[in-house]
Amino acid sequence: MKRAHVFFFVCFLIYTVMIAAYFFQDDLFAVPVQDRGSVVDPQTFMSAEQIEKAESYTRIRYLSFFLETPLQMVVLILIMGLSIKFRNWVEKLLKWRFLQLTGYLVLFSVLTVLIYLPVDAFFFYLDHYYGISHTPLQTWLKDMLIDMGLNLLYLIPVMSLFYWVMKKSPQKWWFWAWLVSIPIIFALVFIQPVLIEPLYHDYQELQDEALKQDILQLAAQANIPAEQVYEVNMSERTNAVNAYVSGLGSSSRIVLWDTTLEKMDEDEIMTVMAHEMGHYVQKHILWSLLIGIALSLGGFWLLYHVFRLFILNWGSSWGIKSGYDLAAIPIIFLIISMFSLAVTPIENAVSRQYERAADAYSMEMTGDGEAAISAFQKIAAENLGTMRQPSIVRIFLGSHPPLEERIKYFQQFVPDE
Ligand SMILES: [Zn+2]
Repeated sequence: MKRAHVFFFVCFLIYTVMIAAYFFQDDLFAVPVQDRGSVVDPQTFMSAEQIEKAESYTRIRYLSFFLETPLQMVVLILIMGLSIKFRNWVEKLLKWRFLQLTGYLVLFSVLTVLIYLPVDAFFFYLDHYYGISHTPLQTWLKDMLIDMGLNLLYLIPVMSLFYWVMKKSPQKWWFWAWLVSIPIIFALVFIQPVLIEPLYHDYQELQDEALKQDILQLAAQANIPAEQVYEVNMSERTNAVNAYVSGLGSSSRIVLWDTTLEKMDEDEIMTVMAHEMGHYVQKHILWSLLIGIALSLGGFWLLYHVFRLFILNWGSSWGIKSGYDLAAIPIIFLIISMFSLAVTPIENAVSRQYERAADAYSMEMTGDGEAAISAFQKIAAENLGTMRQPSIVRIFLGSHPPLEERIKYFQQFVPDE
């Protein structure tokens, strides 16, 4: 075991050095010669200091992602010893299986929160250091508690259901579990804007009456039966600007961060709103959900086979009694997170397609390429974004096309002087 640890440590060290060298290359974000001085050159709309900050912040974010992702998986293996202890405690102290599962999941959640506390604190510090966030410490802690509470609130019933299905149909549970997951996922997405999001932020109807009328008029033009546009108070936490649609059907909400209202002028806001309406009209949330559900059928099938293989071959040497053993929960999570990582490139590619479609929709509605370009330039400046994205990053983190690509698209809609 010792030798395996040393081997892993050395491999990880080499990996770290290699990706750090890659992300800290001087010309990672360099503007190609033919684009210098154009609307996609940050020098034309950001100060030298802003560019420098955006680039170093982005490099650190990329590096963190590529280090954190494999480490999260390793952590799930490293805590197996503790997982066995947790299972022994709950089995000794509690009588019913449901209470044992609850007890185990509470211990597991507390443990993971503690393990990731330094990582989360690092990101908290990083975002403050770069001035992107000014979330008070208290709010950050409160959010963390809500996260943990919500996680347990859905993990406990979902895992009970999972074990129940597993017990009822030992050979085909992967299919039944998948089938049962469908209404749960729909319900969660449906209640997201109505019940979950308000736990974190204050939502209210858009205050600026003139702007609201313009937006509702645009919505009517898009055949959206909206009566309301929401603004969310983010300015006490961040300088970043954003807008989004969430929910399904009647729970759908188009939301603007109040920072967007402060920093963008009306024409810019209208292009952003038209983009969000594009997502709504073309039902991108529904389609992404359906694609996710289709992919997860493969995920459940894989979970069944890999988990079975693990229990058969290594279960007893790891101290796991059977597939129902609570101590094996980290292994289940490990298989799920490996699968999720594997399908992330597909989901991102689909999402980028939807973003392009929403951009096209926004130009159809407003035809205002100039406002869209200045809106995206502000997004880059305020959110410390870069115009370009290395392709390895695009695969795993590119839910949106790079700003450079989007701005170049909008250029077609700028009338020639
Ligand atoms: Zn979008």
